[in-house]
Amino acid sequence: MIRPKAFKYKCPNCGYSKIVKPKSDALTPLDFISICPKCNNQMERKELNAVEKIFWR
Ligand SMILES: [Zn+2]
Repeated sequence: MIRPKAFKYKCPNCGYSKIVKPKSDALTPLDFISICPKCNNQMERKELNAVEKIFWR
């Protein structure tokens, strides 16, 4: 079984970001859409950077 990788959502509007670590591979479409809690903009999904990967393996 492949372990799901953590990823990050970043809001291009205000810069708010959050890291999401899926519990399983069975992601629903909702897991790929996230709305910024600060400005209600749609956040973009990003790969973790090198430092973040150390903490979110
Ligand atoms: Zn925002």
